[in-house]
Amino acid sequence: MGQPIQTILSNWPEFNSHFFMSETGQNEVELCVEDQRYVFEIQKKSLENRDSKSQGWLVFLFDITDRVQIVEAEIRNRQIAQSLHEVAMVVNSTLDTQKTLNLALEQIGKIIPYDIANISILYGDKRVIEFQRGYKDPQAIIGLSVPVENSPHQQALIHRHPLMYSDLQNDFSSYHEQMVTKANSMLCIPMYAKDDILGFLTLGSEKKNYFTNEDISIADAYASQVAVSLQNSRLYAQVNRRLEEQSIMNEIIRIGSSRMGKLEFARAITDQIHRFIKTPGILVLENDPDEKSWYFIDLQDVQEHNIESQYSYDDGLTGYIVQYGKPLLLQSALEVENFLIKNQRSNIGPFPKTFMGAPMITKDRVIGAIVAHDLENERAYDEEDFKLFLMITSQAAIGFENVRLINQLEYLARTDALTGIYNRGHFHNVSRKILNSVEEEKTQVSMIMMDVDLFKGLNDTHGHQIGDLVLQNTVEVCKSLLRDKDVIGRVGGEEFSIILPETTLEEAKKIAERIRQAIAQIKINNNGSSIQTTVSLGVASSTQVDTGTMDDLIQISDQALYQAKADGRNCVRVYNN
Ligand code: GH3
Ligand code: MG
Ligand code: MG
Repeated sequence: MGQPIQTILSNWPEFNSHFFMSETGQNEVELCVEDQRYVFEIQKKSLENRDSKSQGWLVFLFDITDRVQIVEAEIRNRQIAQSLHEVAMVVNSTLDTQKTLNLALEQIGKIIPYDIANISILYGDKRVIEFQRGYKDPQAIIGLSVPVENSPHQQALIHRHPLMYSDLQNDFSSYHEQMVTKANSMLCIPMYAKDDILGFLTLGSEKKNYFTNEDISIADAYASQVAVSLQNSRLYAQVNRRLEEQSIMNEIIRIGSSRMGKLEFARAITDQIHRFIKTPGILVLENDPDEKSWYFIDLQDVQEHNIESQYSYDDGLTGYIVQYGKPLLLQSALEVENFLIKNQRSNIGPFPKTFMGAPMITKDRVIGAIVAHDLENERAYDEEDFKLFLMITSQAAIGFENVRLINQLEYLARTDALTGIYNRGHFHNVSRKILNSVEEEKTQVSMIMMDVDLFKGLNDTHGHQIGDLVLQNTVEVCKSLLRDKDVIGRVGGEEFSIILPETTLEEAKKIAERIRQAIAQIKINNNGSSIQTTVSLGVASSTQVDTGTMDDLIQISDQALYQAKADGRNCVRVYNN
Protein backbone atom coordinates (compact mmCIF):
# COMPACT_ATOMS: atom_id res chain seq x y z
CA MET A 1 0.00 0.00 0.00
CA GLY A 2 3.01 2.17 -0.52
CA GLN A 3 4.46 1.88 3.00
CA PRO A 4 7.03 -0.68 4.10
CA ILE A 5 5.48 -3.17 6.48
CA GLN A 6 8.19 -2.55 9.11
CA THR A 7 6.93 0.98 9.47
CA ILE A 8 3.31 -0.03 9.89
CA LEU A 9 4.12 -2.68 12.48
CA SER A 10 6.90 -0.92 14.35
CA ASN A 11 4.85 -0.91 17.56
CA TRP A 12 4.49 -4.69 17.55
CA PRO A 13 7.83 -6.34 16.88
CA GLU A 14 6.44 -9.81 17.81
CA PHE A 15 3.92 -9.48 15.08
CA ASN A 16 6.54 -8.23 12.76
CA SER A 17 8.72 -11.33 13.03
CA HIS A 18 5.70 -13.61 12.66
CA PHE A 19 4.68 -11.90 9.55
CA PHE A 20 7.93 -12.55 7.80
CA MET A 21 8.52 -16.03 9.13
CA SER A 22 5.50 -17.61 7.57
CA GLU A 23 4.77 -16.51 4.09
CA THR A 24 1.24 -17.79 3.89
CA GLY A 25 -1.34 -19.73 5.82
CA GLN A 26 -2.36 -19.46 9.49
CA ASN A 27 -0.44 -18.44 12.52
CA GLU A 28 -0.92 -17.29 16.05
CA VAL A 29 0.60 -14.35 17.73
CA GLU A 30 0.49 -13.06 21.29
CA LEU A 31 0.31 -9.35 21.60
CA CYS A 32 0.22 -7.14 24.60
CA VAL A 33 -2.17 -4.30 24.26
CA GLU A 34 -2.42 -1.90 27.18
CA ASP A 35 -1.13 -4.57 29.60
CA GLN A 36 -3.69 -7.10 28.41
CA ARG A 37 -2.61 -10.29 26.77
CA TYR A 38 -4.27 -11.07 23.47
CA VAL A 39 -3.86 -14.01 21.20
CA PHE A 40 -4.64 -13.49 17.54
CA GLU A 41 -4.91 -15.91 14.76
CA ILE A 42 -3.33 -14.41 11.64
CA GLN A 43 -4.47 -15.02 8.12
CA LYS A 44 -2.79 -13.13 5.31
CA LYS A 45 -3.47 -12.92 1.66
CA SER A 46 -1.27 -11.53 -1.07
CA LEU A 47 -2.84 -8.73 -3.10
CA GLU A 48 -1.90 -8.98 -6.74
CA ASN A 49 -2.67 -7.01 -9.84
CA ARG A 50 -3.77 -8.48 -13.09
CA ASP A 51 -0.20 -9.34 -14.00
CA SER A 52 0.07 -11.38 -10.82
CA LYS A 53 2.40 -8.85 -9.36
CA SER A 54 2.32 -8.42 -5.64
CA GLN A 55 0.76 -5.18 -4.56
CA GLY A 56 0.73 -5.81 -0.82
CA TRP A 57 -1.00 -7.91 1.80
CA LEU A 58 -4.42 -8.34 3.25
CA VAL A 59 -4.04 -9.38 6.86
CA PHE A 60 -6.86 -10.68 9.07
CA LEU A 61 -6.44 -10.81 12.87
CA PHE A 62 -8.93 -13.05 14.64
CA ASP A 63 -9.06 -12.57 18.42
CA ILE A 64 -8.84 -16.11 19.88
CA THR A 65 -7.78 -15.04 23.37
CA ASP A 66 -10.74 -16.67 25.11
CA ARG A 67 -10.38 -19.95 23.26
CA VAL A 68 -6.66 -20.17 24.02
CA GLN A 69 -7.21 -19.39 27.69
CA ILE A 70 -9.80 -22.14 28.03
CA VAL A 71 -7.50 -24.68 26.44
CA GLU A 72 -4.60 -23.57 28.63
CA ALA A 73 -6.69 -23.75 31.77
CA GLU A 74 -7.79 -27.22 30.81
CA ILE A 75 -4.23 -28.40 30.32
CA ARG A 76 -3.23 -26.89 33.63
CA ASN A 77 -6.17 -28.45 35.41
CA ARG A 78 -5.26 -31.81 33.97
CA GLN A 79 -1.69 -31.29 35.16
CA ILE A 80 -2.84 -30.40 38.66
CA ALA A 81 -5.21 -33.35 38.80
CA GLN A 82 -2.51 -35.72 37.65
CA SER A 83 0.06 -34.40 40.08
CA LEU A 84 -2.42 -34.52 42.98
CA HIS A 85 -3.30 -38.05 41.99
CA GLU A 86 0.36 -38.99 42.03
CA VAL A 87 0.79 -37.57 45.53
CA ALA A 88 -2.39 -39.29 46.72
CA MET A 89 -1.20 -42.63 45.36
CA VAL A 90 2.05 -42.36 47.28
CA VAL A 91 0.25 -41.19 50.43
CA ASN A 92 -1.96 -44.26 50.30
CA SER A 93 0.73 -46.75 49.45
CA THR A 94 3.50 -45.90 51.88
CA LEU A 95 3.98 -44.84 55.49
CA ASP A 96 7.27 -43.26 54.59
CA THR A 97 6.37 -39.63 55.35
CA GLN A 98 9.80 -38.47 54.32
CA LYS A 99 9.23 -39.81 50.84
CA THR A 100 5.60 -38.64 50.58
CA LEU A 101 6.15 -35.11 51.77
CA ASN A 102 9.23 -34.55 49.69
CA LEU A 103 7.26 -35.69 46.67
CA ALA A 104 4.37 -33.41 47.58
CA LEU A 105 6.65 -30.38 47.82
CA GLU A 106 8.25 -31.28 44.51
CA GLN A 107 4.87 -31.68 42.79
CA ILE A 108 3.51 -28.39 44.13
CA GLY A 109 6.56 -26.70 42.68
CA LYS A 110 5.63 -27.91 39.22
CA ILE A 111 2.23 -26.27 39.45
CA ILE A 112 3.07 -23.25 41.59
CA PRO A 113 6.74 -22.43 41.06
CA TYR A 114 8.01 -21.19 44.42
CA ASP A 115 11.37 -20.18 45.76
CA ILE A 116 10.96 -21.87 49.12
CA ALA A 117 8.49 -24.31 50.62
CA ASN A 118 8.21 -26.03 53.98
CA ILE A 119 5.95 -28.22 56.04
CA SER A 120 5.77 -27.44 59.73
CA ILE A 121 4.02 -29.22 62.59
CA LEU A 122 2.24 -27.34 65.33
CA TYR A 123 3.28 -28.03 68.95
CA GLY A 124 1.34 -25.75 71.27
CA ASP A 125 2.38 -22.18 70.54
CA LYS A 126 5.31 -23.18 68.34
CA ARG A 127 5.65 -24.87 65.02
CA VAL A 128 8.60 -27.03 64.06
CA ILE A 129 9.75 -27.16 60.47
CA GLU A 130 10.15 -30.76 59.40
CA PHE A 131 10.41 -30.69 55.60
CA GLN A 132 11.77 -28.10 53.22
CA ARG A 133 12.62 -27.33 49.63
CA GLY A 134 14.51 -24.43 48.18
CA TYR A 135 16.29 -23.17 51.30
CA LYS A 136 19.95 -22.35 50.83
CA ASP A 137 20.86 -23.96 54.15
CA PRO A 138 18.44 -26.84 54.80
CA GLN A 139 20.28 -27.77 58.05
CA ALA A 140 19.44 -24.38 59.52
CA ILE A 141 15.76 -24.69 58.74
CA ILE A 142 14.97 -28.35 59.52
CA GLY A 143 14.00 -28.76 63.15
CA LEU A 144 13.70 -25.00 63.58
CA SER A 145 11.09 -24.17 66.20
CA VAL A 146 9.22 -20.96 65.36
CA PRO A 147 6.80 -19.20 67.69
CA VAL A 148 3.40 -18.82 66.06
CA GLU A 149 2.85 -15.51 67.83
CA ASN A 150 3.15 -12.51 65.50
CA SER A 151 3.83 -14.68 62.49
CA PRO A 152 1.84 -15.00 59.26
CA HIS A 153 0.76 -18.40 60.53
CA GLN A 154 -0.95 -16.95 63.56
CA GLN A 155 -3.53 -15.33 61.30
CA ALA A 156 -4.10 -18.57 59.41
CA LEU A 157 -4.49 -20.31 62.77
CA ILE A 158 -6.97 -17.76 64.08
CA HIS A 159 -9.05 -17.58 60.92
CA ARG A 160 -8.71 -21.29 60.21
CA HIS A 161 -8.22 -20.86 56.50
CA PRO A 162 -5.36 -20.40 54.06
CA LEU A 163 -3.85 -16.95 53.82
CA MET A 164 -1.86 -15.15 51.17
CA TYR A 165 0.69 -12.41 51.84
CA SER A 166 2.01 -10.19 49.09
CA ASP A 167 4.56 -8.10 50.93
CA LEU A 168 5.88 -10.10 53.81
CA GLN A 169 8.90 -7.96 54.66
CA ASN A 170 6.56 -5.12 55.27
CA ASP A 171 3.91 -7.08 57.22
CA PHE A 172 6.13 -9.30 59.37
CA SER A 173 9.62 -7.90 59.47
CA SER A 174 10.74 -9.67 62.69
CA TYR A 175 9.38 -13.00 61.53
CA HIS A 176 11.20 -12.51 58.32
CA GLU A 177 14.68 -12.40 59.80
CA GLN A 178 14.13 -15.50 61.83
CA MET A 179 13.10 -17.57 58.85
CA VAL A 180 16.39 -17.00 56.97
CA THR A 181 14.58 -16.33 53.73
CA LYS A 182 14.05 -13.50 51.36
CA ALA A 183 10.43 -14.40 50.70
CA ASN A 184 8.19 -11.44 49.98
CA SER A 185 5.08 -13.33 48.98
CA MET A 186 3.80 -16.18 51.05
CA LEU A 187 1.04 -18.75 51.15
CA CYS A 188 0.17 -20.16 54.60
CA ILE A 189 -2.02 -23.22 54.28
CA PRO A 190 -3.22 -24.87 57.48
CA MET A 191 -3.33 -28.69 57.47
CA TYR A 192 -6.12 -30.38 59.35
CA ALA A 193 -6.47 -33.62 61.24
CA LYS A 194 -10.21 -33.84 61.73
CA ASP A 195 -10.91 -30.38 63.15
CA ASP A 196 -7.50 -29.70 64.60
CA ILE A 197 -4.83 -27.79 62.80
CA LEU A 198 -1.90 -30.15 62.58
CA GLY A 199 0.56 -27.78 60.97
CA PHE A 200 1.16 -25.70 57.89
CA LEU A 201 2.20 -25.92 54.31
CA THR A 202 4.11 -22.73 53.55
CA LEU A 203 5.14 -21.51 50.09
CA GLY A 204 7.28 -18.44 49.53
CA SER A 205 8.51 -16.35 46.64
CA GLU A 206 11.07 -13.60 46.50
CA LYS A 207 8.75 -11.60 44.26
CA LYS A 208 6.08 -9.38 45.73
CA ASN A 209 2.45 -9.99 44.74
CA TYR A 210 3.47 -13.34 43.40
CA PHE A 211 0.75 -15.79 44.38
CA THR A 212 -2.81 -15.78 43.06
CA ASN A 213 -6.13 -16.80 44.51
CA GLU A 214 -6.05 -19.85 42.32
CA ASP A 215 -2.71 -20.83 43.89
CA ILE A 216 -4.37 -20.81 47.31
CA SER A 217 -6.94 -23.42 46.37
CA ILE A 218 -4.36 -25.59 44.57
CA ALA A 219 -1.95 -25.43 47.49
CA ASP A 220 -4.87 -26.23 49.80
CA ALA A 221 -5.56 -29.43 47.88
CA TYR A 222 -1.95 -30.53 48.30
CA ALA A 223 -2.02 -29.56 51.95
CA SER A 224 -4.94 -31.96 52.48
CA GLN A 225 -2.92 -34.81 51.01
CA VAL A 226 0.05 -33.90 53.15
CA ALA A 227 -2.21 -33.85 56.21
CA VAL A 228 -3.50 -37.34 55.37
CA SER A 229 0.04 -38.60 55.07
CA LEU A 230 1.09 -37.06 58.37
CA GLN A 231 -2.01 -38.39 60.08
CA ASN A 232 -1.46 -41.87 58.67
CA SER A 233 2.07 -42.01 59.93
CA ARG A 234 1.00 -40.65 63.30
CA LEU A 235 -1.74 -43.24 63.62
CA TYR A 236 0.64 -45.94 62.54
CA ALA A 237 3.21 -44.80 65.09
CA GLN A 238 0.50 -44.68 67.74
CA VAL A 239 -0.73 -48.18 66.98
CA ASN A 240 2.83 -49.44 67.05
CA ARG A 241 3.47 -47.69 70.32
CA ARG A 242 0.34 -49.22 71.91
CA LEU A 243 1.34 -52.66 70.70
CA GLU A 244 4.82 -52.16 72.08
CA GLU A 245 3.39 -50.93 75.38
CA GLN A 246 1.15 -53.96 75.63
CA SER A 247 4.01 -56.29 74.88
CA ILE A 248 6.19 -54.56 77.49
CA MET A 249 3.45 -54.79 80.11
CA ASN A 250 2.95 -58.48 79.33
CA GLU A 251 6.64 -59.05 79.81
CA ILE A 252 6.64 -57.15 83.11
CA ILE A 253 3.81 -59.36 84.36
CA ARG A 254 5.62 -62.48 83.18
CA ILE A 255 8.85 -61.37 84.87
CA GLY A 256 6.97 -60.64 88.09
CA SER A 257 5.43 -64.08 88.25
CA SER A 258 8.55 -66.03 87.38
CA ARG A 259 10.96 -67.30 89.97
CA MET A 260 14.09 -65.24 89.91
CA GLY A 261 16.55 -63.50 92.17
CA LYS A 262 16.56 -59.75 92.77
CA LEU A 263 19.44 -59.11 90.41
CA GLU A 264 17.89 -61.11 87.62
CA PHE A 265 14.58 -59.33 88.24
CA ALA A 266 16.17 -55.88 88.15
CA ARG A 267 17.95 -56.64 84.89
CA ALA A 268 14.83 -58.07 83.28
CA ILE A 269 12.81 -54.96 84.21
CA THR A 270 15.60 -52.64 83.02
CA ASP A 271 15.70 -54.48 79.69
CA GLN A 272 11.98 -53.91 79.20
CA ILE A 273 12.22 -50.18 79.97
CA HIS A 274 15.08 -49.98 77.49
CA ARG A 275 12.60 -50.92 74.79
CA PHE A 276 11.28 -47.34 74.88
CA ILE A 277 14.15 -45.49 76.57
CA LYS A 278 17.35 -46.17 74.70
CA THR A 279 19.88 -44.23 76.76
CA PRO A 280 21.58 -45.90 79.75
CA GLY A 281 20.64 -44.87 83.27
CA ILE A 282 17.71 -47.04 84.33
CA LEU A 283 18.03 -48.45 87.84
CA VAL A 284 15.93 -50.60 90.14
CA LEU A 285 16.42 -50.15 93.86
CA GLU A 286 15.14 -51.59 97.09
CA ASN A 287 13.92 -49.74 100.16
CA ASP A 288 15.14 -50.60 103.64
CA PRO A 289 12.63 -48.81 105.92
CA ASP A 290 14.32 -50.06 109.11
CA GLU A 291 17.57 -48.37 108.17
CA LYS A 292 15.82 -45.45 106.41
CA SER A 293 18.00 -46.24 103.44
CA TRP A 294 17.78 -47.64 99.96
CA TYR A 295 20.18 -49.49 97.73
CA PHE A 296 20.56 -50.11 94.02
CA ILE A 297 20.11 -53.75 93.14
CA ASP A 298 22.24 -53.49 90.03
CA LEU A 299 24.54 -50.70 88.86
CA GLN A 300 25.33 -52.22 85.48
CA ASP A 301 23.39 -49.55 83.57
CA VAL A 302 25.48 -46.69 85.00
CA GLN A 303 28.82 -48.47 85.24
CA GLU A 304 31.00 -45.58 84.14
CA HIS A 305 29.68 -43.23 86.83
CA ASN A 306 30.65 -42.96 90.43
CA ILE A 307 27.56 -44.24 92.18
CA GLU A 308 27.59 -46.12 95.46
CA SER A 309 25.10 -48.88 95.99
CA GLN A 310 23.63 -47.67 99.28
CA TYR A 311 22.18 -44.28 100.23
CA SER A 312 19.96 -42.71 102.88
CA TYR A 313 16.50 -41.20 102.48
CA ASP A 314 18.08 -37.74 102.48
CA ASP A 315 20.15 -38.53 99.41
CA GLY A 316 19.23 -37.53 95.90
CA LEU A 317 16.03 -37.41 93.94
CA THR A 318 15.61 -41.13 94.52
CA GLY A 319 15.69 -40.64 98.29
CA TYR A 320 12.68 -38.33 97.91
CA ILE A 321 10.76 -40.93 95.90
CA VAL A 322 11.46 -43.68 98.41
CA GLN A 323 10.85 -41.52 101.46
CA TYR A 324 7.55 -40.00 100.30
CA GLY A 325 6.39 -42.70 97.90
CA LYS A 326 5.81 -40.11 95.16
CA PRO A 327 6.71 -40.29 91.47
CA LEU A 328 8.83 -37.57 89.91
CA LEU A 329 9.33 -36.24 86.39
CA LEU A 330 11.89 -33.45 85.92
CA GLN A 331 12.34 -32.28 82.36
CA SER A 332 15.42 -30.06 82.50
CA ALA A 333 18.61 -29.44 84.44
CA LEU A 334 16.97 -26.32 85.83
CA GLU A 335 13.93 -28.25 87.06
CA VAL A 336 16.25 -30.78 88.71
CA GLU A 337 18.23 -28.03 90.38
CA ASN A 338 15.13 -26.19 91.59
CA PHE A 339 13.67 -29.38 92.96
CA LEU A 340 16.83 -30.20 94.88
CA ILE A 341 17.03 -26.69 96.34
CA LYS A 342 13.36 -26.62 97.27
CA ASN A 343 13.61 -29.99 99.01
CA GLN A 344 17.03 -29.29 100.51
CA ARG A 345 18.74 -32.35 99.19
CA SER A 346 21.76 -32.97 97.02
CA ASN A 347 22.10 -34.95 93.86
CA ILE A 348 23.94 -38.25 93.83
CA GLY A 349 25.92 -39.49 90.85
CA PRO A 350 26.12 -37.50 87.63
CA PHE A 351 23.77 -34.53 87.19
CA PRO A 352 20.77 -35.46 85.00
CA LYS A 353 19.20 -33.27 82.30
CA THR A 354 16.02 -35.33 82.47
CA PHE A 355 14.96 -37.48 85.40
CA MET A 356 11.98 -39.65 86.16
CA GLY A 357 11.33 -42.09 88.93
CA ALA A 358 8.47 -43.84 90.64
CA PRO A 359 8.11 -45.86 93.82
CA MET A 360 7.20 -49.55 93.81
CA ILE A 361 4.38 -49.75 96.34
CA THR A 362 2.52 -52.81 97.62
CA LYS A 363 0.07 -52.81 100.48
CA ASP A 364 0.86 -49.15 101.21
CA ARG A 365 4.52 -49.92 101.71
CA VAL A 366 7.29 -48.51 99.51
CA ILE A 367 9.37 -51.58 98.77
CA GLY A 368 11.58 -49.96 96.19
CA ALA A 369 11.63 -47.69 93.17
CA ILE A 370 12.66 -47.49 89.56
CA VAL A 371 14.46 -44.41 88.28
CA ALA A 372 15.74 -43.28 84.90
CA HIS A 373 17.97 -40.39 83.94
CA ASP A 374 19.29 -38.88 80.75
CA LEU A 375 22.58 -37.02 81.03
CA GLU A 376 22.63 -35.61 77.49
CA ASN A 377 19.13 -34.35 76.68
CA GLU A 378 16.50 -32.25 78.34
CA ARG A 379 12.92 -33.48 77.83
CA ALA A 380 14.34 -36.89 76.97
CA TYR A 381 11.17 -38.49 78.32
CA ASP A 382 7.74 -37.14 77.45
CA GLU A 383 4.39 -37.52 79.21
CA GLU A 384 3.67 -40.70 77.26
CA ASP A 385 6.94 -42.24 78.44
CA PHE A 386 6.21 -41.21 82.00
CA LYS A 387 2.72 -42.73 81.87
CA LEU A 388 4.09 -46.04 80.66
CA PHE A 389 6.88 -45.83 83.21
CA LEU A 390 4.32 -45.43 86.01
CA MET A 391 2.34 -48.40 84.72
CA ILE A 392 5.48 -50.50 84.60
CA THR A 393 6.54 -49.44 88.10
CA SER A 394 3.22 -50.27 89.70
CA GLN A 395 3.09 -53.64 87.95
CA ALA A 396 6.75 -54.33 88.75
CA ALA A 397 5.97 -53.66 92.42
CA ILE A 398 3.81 -56.79 92.53
CA GLY A 399 6.59 -58.79 90.91
CA PHE A 400 9.23 -57.33 93.16
CA GLU A 401 7.21 -58.18 96.28
CA ASN A 402 6.95 -61.70 94.92
CA VAL A 403 10.70 -61.87 94.32
CA ARG A 404 11.36 -60.59 97.82
CA LEU A 405 9.03 -63.12 99.44
CA ILE A 406 10.55 -65.99 97.51
CA ASN A 407 14.01 -64.75 98.42
CA GLN A 408 13.03 -64.56 102.06
CA LEU A 409 11.42 -68.01 102.06
CA GLU A 410 14.45 -69.49 100.38
CA TYR A 411 16.71 -67.76 102.87
CA LEU A 412 14.67 -69.04 105.82
CA ALA A 413 14.54 -72.51 104.35
CA ARG A 414 18.31 -72.79 104.17
CA THR A 415 19.42 -70.77 107.16
CA ASP A 416 19.74 -71.63 110.82
CA ALA A 417 17.82 -69.00 112.72
CA LEU A 418 20.11 -68.91 115.76
CA THR A 419 23.46 -68.53 114.06
CA GLY A 420 22.58 -67.35 110.54
CA ILE A 421 24.67 -70.05 108.88
CA TYR A 422 23.39 -72.84 106.62
CA ASN A 423 21.18 -75.42 108.29
CA ARG A 424 21.80 -79.14 107.99
CA GLY A 425 19.78 -79.66 104.81
CA HIS A 426 21.28 -76.80 102.86
CA PHE A 427 24.78 -77.50 104.12
CA HIS A 428 24.52 -81.02 102.75
CA ASN A 429 23.29 -79.74 99.40
CA VAL A 430 26.11 -77.24 99.10
CA SER A 431 28.77 -79.71 100.26
CA ARG A 432 27.51 -82.33 97.85
CA LYS A 433 27.96 -79.87 94.98
CA ILE A 434 31.47 -79.01 96.12
CA LEU A 435 32.33 -82.67 96.42
CA ASN A 436 31.01 -83.38 92.94
CA SER A 437 33.15 -80.64 91.45
CA VAL A 438 36.17 -82.26 93.11
CA GLU A 439 35.64 -85.36 90.97
CA GLU A 440 35.89 -83.24 87.83
CA GLU A 441 38.67 -80.89 88.85
CA LYS A 442 40.80 -83.51 90.56
CA THR A 443 41.46 -81.41 93.64
CA GLN A 444 40.78 -82.43 97.20
CA VAL A 445 38.28 -81.27 99.75
CA SER A 446 38.53 -81.62 103.51
CA MET A 447 35.90 -81.67 106.17
CA ILE A 448 35.89 -80.66 109.81
CA MET A 449 33.27 -81.97 112.23
CA MET A 450 33.02 -79.95 115.41
CA ASP A 451 31.04 -80.58 118.60
CA VAL A 452 30.86 -78.38 121.69
CA ASP A 453 32.22 -80.17 124.72
CA LEU A 454 30.01 -80.96 127.67
CA PHE A 455 27.39 -78.62 126.40
CA LYS A 456 24.57 -80.29 128.25
CA GLY A 457 26.27 -79.41 131.53
CA LEU A 458 26.78 -75.79 130.44
CA ASN A 459 23.11 -75.49 129.61
CA ASP A 460 22.13 -77.02 132.92
CA THR A 461 24.41 -74.71 134.91
CA HIS A 462 23.92 -71.38 133.14
CA GLY A 463 20.68 -71.79 131.25
CA HIS A 464 19.74 -72.15 127.59
CA GLN A 465 20.21 -68.49 126.79
CA ILE A 466 23.86 -68.59 127.71
CA GLY A 467 24.09 -71.86 125.78
CA ASP A 468 22.70 -70.07 122.73
CA LEU A 469 25.17 -67.24 123.16
CA VAL A 470 28.02 -69.76 123.26
CA LEU A 471 26.78 -71.28 120.00
CA GLN A 472 26.61 -67.85 118.34
CA ASN A 473 30.09 -66.91 119.51
CA THR A 474 31.46 -70.21 118.38
CA VAL A 475 30.12 -69.64 114.88
CA GLU A 476 31.47 -66.07 114.73
CA VAL A 477 34.95 -67.27 115.67
CA CYS A 478 34.82 -70.00 113.04
CA LYS A 479 33.69 -67.62 110.33
CA SER A 480 36.50 -65.20 111.17
CA LEU A 481 39.05 -67.95 110.60
CA LEU A 482 37.57 -69.36 107.39
CA ARG A 483 38.01 -68.25 103.78
CA ASP A 484 35.14 -67.09 101.57
CA LYS A 485 34.99 -70.37 99.70
CA ASP A 486 34.75 -72.43 102.90
CA VAL A 487 31.25 -73.39 103.98
CA ILE A 488 30.06 -73.88 107.53
CA GLY A 489 26.72 -75.37 108.58
CA ARG A 490 24.93 -76.24 111.78
CA VAL A 491 24.27 -79.95 111.41
CA GLY A 492 23.06 -80.70 114.96
CA GLY A 493 22.23 -78.92 118.23
CA GLU A 494 25.81 -78.06 119.11
CA GLU A 495 27.41 -79.76 116.15
CA PHE A 496 28.91 -77.90 113.21
CA SER A 497 30.40 -79.08 109.97
CA ILE A 498 32.86 -77.20 107.79
CA ILE A 499 33.74 -78.06 104.22
CA LEU A 500 37.07 -76.75 102.93
CA PRO A 501 37.48 -76.80 99.14
CA GLU A 502 40.98 -77.24 97.64
CA THR A 503 42.41 -78.08 101.03
CA THR A 504 44.68 -80.99 101.98
CA LEU A 505 44.21 -83.01 105.13
CA GLU A 506 47.30 -81.37 106.63
CA GLU A 507 46.01 -77.85 105.97
CA ALA A 508 42.56 -78.76 107.30
CA LYS A 509 44.12 -80.06 110.47
CA LYS A 510 45.93 -76.74 111.01
CA ILE A 511 42.72 -74.79 110.48
CA ALA A 512 40.87 -77.07 112.94
CA GLU A 513 43.59 -76.51 115.49
CA ARG A 514 43.36 -72.74 115.03
CA ILE A 515 39.60 -72.91 115.55
CA ARG A 516 39.98 -75.03 118.66
CA GLN A 517 42.43 -72.58 120.22
CA ALA A 518 40.36 -69.51 119.30
CA ILE A 519 37.19 -70.97 120.81
CA ALA A 520 39.01 -71.87 123.99
CA GLN A 521 39.86 -68.16 124.31
CA ILE A 522 36.20 -67.02 124.24
CA LYS A 523 35.02 -65.71 127.55
CA ILE A 524 31.35 -65.06 128.09
CA ASN A 525 30.31 -62.88 130.92
CA ASN A 526 27.33 -64.14 132.91
CA ASN A 527 26.53 -61.95 135.91
CA GLY A 528 30.19 -61.47 136.74
CA SER A 529 31.28 -65.04 136.22
CA SER A 530 33.27 -65.83 133.11
CA ILE A 531 32.22 -68.83 131.09
CA GLN A 532 34.56 -70.69 128.78
CA THR A 533 33.93 -73.62 126.49
CA THR A 534 35.94 -75.94 124.35
CA VAL A 535 35.23 -77.92 121.22
CA SER A 536 36.37 -81.24 119.84
CA LEU A 537 37.12 -81.53 116.14
CA GLY A 538 37.43 -84.41 113.70
CA VAL A 539 39.12 -83.90 110.32
CA ALA A 540 38.97 -86.01 107.14
CA SER A 541 39.66 -85.56 103.43
CA SER A 542 37.97 -86.61 100.21
CA THR A 543 41.13 -88.58 99.34
CA GLN A 544 40.33 -90.93 102.20
CA VAL A 545 37.05 -92.19 100.74
CA ASP A 546 36.95 -94.46 97.70
CA THR A 547 33.52 -93.61 96.42
CA GLY A 548 33.77 -89.94 97.28
CA THR A 549 30.19 -89.56 98.42
CA MET A 550 29.08 -87.03 100.99
CA ASP A 551 27.81 -89.64 103.40
CA ASP A 552 31.18 -91.37 103.45
CA LEU A 553 33.06 -88.18 104.12
CA ILE A 554 30.66 -87.22 106.91
CA GLN A 555 30.99 -90.65 108.40
CA ILE A 556 34.77 -90.66 108.56
CA SER A 557 35.01 -87.10 109.91
CA ASP A 558 32.46 -88.14 112.54
CA GLN A 559 34.70 -91.04 113.45
CA ALA A 560 37.61 -88.64 113.88
CA LEU A 561 35.42 -86.42 116.08
CA TYR A 562 34.43 -89.46 118.15
CA GLN A 563 38.13 -90.16 118.60
CA ALA A 564 38.71 -86.57 119.80
CA LYS A 565 35.96 -86.99 122.39
CA ALA A 566 37.41 -90.31 123.43
CA ASP A 567 40.84 -88.72 123.80
CA GLY A 568 39.54 -86.28 126.40
CA ARG A 569 37.86 -83.50 124.34
CA ASN A 570 39.29 -80.00 123.44
CA CYS A 571 41.46 -81.54 120.74
CA VAL A 572 41.69 -82.20 117.01
CA ARG A 573 41.80 -85.72 115.57
CA VAL A 574 42.40 -86.70 111.97
CA TYR A 575 40.72 -89.73 110.46
CA ASN A 576 43.17 -92.55 110.15
CA ASN A 577 42.36 -95.45 107.85
P1 GH3 B 1 29.95 -84.03 124.71
O1 GH3 B 1 31.17 -83.33 125.15
O2 GH3 B 1 30.07 -85.50 124.79
O3 GH3 B 1 29.50 -83.58 123.39
O4 GH3 B 1 28.89 -83.61 125.80
P2 GH3 B 1 27.57 -82.84 125.50
O5 GH3 B 1 26.94 -82.48 126.76
O6 GH3 B 1 27.86 -81.67 124.63
O7 GH3 B 1 26.77 -83.89 124.71
P3 GH3 B 1 25.25 -84.07 124.37
O8 GH3 B 1 25.14 -84.37 122.93
O9 GH3 B 1 24.75 -85.12 125.31
O10 GH3 B 1 24.57 -82.75 124.70
C1 GH3 B 1 24.15 -81.83 123.71
C2 GH3 B 1 23.30 -80.80 124.39
O11 GH3 B 1 23.23 -79.62 123.64
C3 GH3 B 1 21.88 -81.24 124.57
C4 GH3 B 1 21.07 -80.00 124.51
O12 GH3 B 1 20.64 -79.58 125.76
C5 GH3 B 1 22.05 -78.95 124.03
N1 GH3 B 1 21.53 -78.23 122.92
C6 GH3 B 1 21.22 -78.75 121.70
N2 GH3 B 1 20.77 -77.72 120.88
C7 GH3 B 1 20.79 -76.58 121.64
C8 GH3 B 1 20.44 -75.23 121.40
O13 GH3 B 1 20.00 -74.83 120.32
N3 GH3 B 1 20.61 -74.33 122.40
C9 GH3 B 1 21.10 -74.71 123.60
N4 GH3 B 1 21.26 -73.76 124.54
N5 GH3 B 1 21.42 -75.96 123.87
C10 GH3 B 1 21.27 -76.91 122.92
MG1 MG C 1 26.60 -83.45 120.37
MG1 MG D 1 28.64 -81.92 122.72
